[in-house]
Amino acid sequence: MIFMEIKFEKAETLKAKPDPSTLGFGKIFTDHMFMMEWNKETGWHDARIVPFGYLSIHPASTCLHYGSEIFEGLKAYRRADGKVQLFRPIENIRRMNNSADRLCLPKIPEDMAMEIYTKFVETEQDWTPSAEGTSLYLRPFMFGNDESLGVHAVHNATFMIIASPVGSYYKEGINPVKIMIESEDVRAVVGGTGEAKCGGNYAASNRAGERAEQKGYSQVLWLDGVERKYIEEVGAMNVMFKINGEVVAPMLTGSILPGITRKSCLEVLRNEGYKVVERRISVDELAEAMQNGTLEEAWGTGTAAVVSPIGELCYKDMKYTVNGGKIGEVTQHLYDTLTGIQWGKIEDTYGWTLPID
Ligand SMILES: *Cc1c(COP(=O)(O)O)cnc(C)c1O
Repeated sequence: MIFMEIKFEKAETLKAKPDPSTLGFGKIFTDHMFMMEWNKETGWHDARIVPFGYLSIHPASTCLHYGSEIFEGLKAYRRADGKVQLFRPIENIRRMNNSADRLCLPKIPEDMAMEIYTKFVETEQDWTPSAEGTSLYLRPFMFGNDESLGVHAVHNATFMIIASPVGSYYKEGINPVKIMIESEDVRAVVGGTGEAKCGGNYAASNRAGERAEQKGYSQVLWLDGVERKYIEEVGAMNVMFKINGEVVAPMLTGSILPGITRKSCLEVLRNEGYKVVERRISVDELAEAMQNGTLEEAWGTGTAAVVSPIGELCYKDMKYTVNGGKIGEVTQHLYDTLTGIQWGKIEDTYGWTLPID
């Protein structure tokens, strides 16, 4: 079904595709980008795929002053048979609408968004690399674009999608990361924007991330913003633990970003009969499990890395090694299952993948 006409302005010259070994993350962009505008009177309009390039926006634009910005992140994967497929794109579409609701930005009807995603990926699919572990990262985002300094819900917004071929997250194998438990800064509070995927959350979390990096840690483990007691997320990933044979994931209290990788991991584990619980877990409980040896595995989950095993945790200058600093069995199993489905190496019995024609 056609919900709106998407105009196509083809780039005059197409860029050369990069060497897959040099990709990295989010540095190279494809030939085109998707754009459309919204205002209160006409709703969404002027949908177009145009040559990738700079934007021209008013210096008073809302997003530059008041942080009206939300985004999504998902990937297109090249299967062995050459087809390109998306992984649970409807989840990203729904989450962006929830983020829009929180930030007073306009929603995009699900069917319309799905048509836009698929049309754009169809246009840019040649950019999906095929080397092991590589993919085409899609970054849908929306920003308030009123040309006035008044503070209010936005009356004009722009939605875009850009795409970037990205390299394998684990070029040198899956290496467990060192994580510092952050006890000063907080990422989000219930009632705030922690549940929304908005740029402001990232801006506010950079300071703790920098401090952790200076001490030799790759990310911080966030505690709740009220009591600084309950575990929330790890860097920009959700987090899970295996304690005494049971997988424990911090429950979605309102300040945690509902990750699609998190949801997928929990669905796989439950489907396969693992013991799984979503509940609040305090840092003291975690510290105790580390000391008495019942913390068997710890890992982060997110689209970029899928799963990221945690090999060391530092809390108030005390250091703990998790699973001898090696990736655990459940972590490895989740990685193999999800990447297997994403790259079409194992059958998708969940109906999560969407091949692009
Ligand atoms: C995007 C994001 C995640 C992971 O979500 P996925 O849908 O699994 O990629 C987790 N935490 C934060 C703060 C995020 O922004």
